[in-house]
Amino acid sequence: MADACAVCRSLQASLDLSAPLVKADESPVTVADFAAQAIVARRLADALGPVRLVAEETSAFLRDPAHAPALGAALEALRPVWPDATPDALLSAIDLGSPARGAQPPVDASAFFTLDPIDGTKGFLRRRQYSICLALIERGTATLGALGCPNLPLDPGAPLDRPDPAGAIYAADVPARLVLESIADGAAPARPLPPLPEREAGDGTEAPADRPVTVVTSVEPSHSSRTRLLAVLTALGRPFRLVPLDSQCKYALVARGQADAMLRLPSRRDAVYHVWDHAPGAAVAGAAGCVVTDLVGRPLDFAAGVSLANNIGILCAAPWLHPLLVEAVERAGVVPA
Ligand code: AMP
Ligand code: MG
Repeated sequence: MADACAVCRSLQASLDLSAPLVKADESPVTVADFAAQAIVARRLADALGPVRLVAEETSAFLRDPAHAPALGAALEALRPVWPDATPDALLSAIDLGSPARGAQPPVDASAFFTLDPIDGTKGFLRRRQYSICLALIERGTATLGALGCPNLPLDPGAPLDRPDPAGAIYAADVPARLVLESIADGAAPARPLPPLPEREAGDGTEAPADRPVTVVTSVEPSHSSRTRLLAVLTALGRPFRLVPLDSQCKYALVARGQADAMLRLPSRRDAVYHVWDHAPGAAVAGAAGCVVTDLVGRPLDFAAGVSLANNIGILCAAPWLHPLLVEAVERAGVVPA
């Protein structure tokens, strides 16, 4: 993960971000998405042998001769961490993560990994927050998760709207309820994040009614309905503060107690939530002691296909706040029956 962060960081500094690449489905992509998927998939396979990996990207774009400059740029960016990479090796590594494309993931298998090589592509393009997100899913539950957050400061007092020079990595073991936090360049040892209730012990498990509830939300209005969020927070009846932030860095903020909650309210009935967009963050927040469910309080089901077909929206919150928000969602009437 530290190597993937370094590769993305160098690409964010060197790429022309004003003209992103566009995939066949018209969504934006960058050389960093391909490079990060290649290095994470390669390292997983090197460490574990053949793995089932459901990842966001395929090599199709880079295999198009018209996109040879992008392939060359990805190869160049990977050199420091994968010196003998060849074009074929890079493309094959990306495809280690593609067997489930167009099909259902192996949900009846005991386990599979899921990877979003750059979550928050728009944040990456804005030179703001983005994350490299990996999870292990076993029987529908995220049991391990890692978030590489190259621009996220460890210091909760540092500004979130400009790239931190060091960045942060979170690695979670959910059954062990352990989250390791480290700076993204791997230069200092990781340390365990204190469990959330312990961090809240100073001011009690329930926040005083007059402390604003901090809610972290998408920057992109189309990704989560701001109107519905405001309806829920009005129904909650407490003062609140919104922190817009791109990517699964939002889950890291709730995990480390810097935000009280993250809500994702579908803007459209047909909104699709992918496993790679939530399993890694849910693992980190869950292992830190947060409660992560959908908007009506159901556990997230990561075995329903590449999307979260059995859930509606996302609600990740500190334990004291989660039940209050489930009630507020119901009172606000924002979840379609
Ligand atoms: P965020 O950083 O909160 O803006 O979320 C980024 C993620 O939102 C991306 O990885 C996309 O897969 C996902 N996304 C894209 N379009 C939508 C949409 N209409 N509704 C919900 N999520 C979306
Ligand atoms: Mg994503």
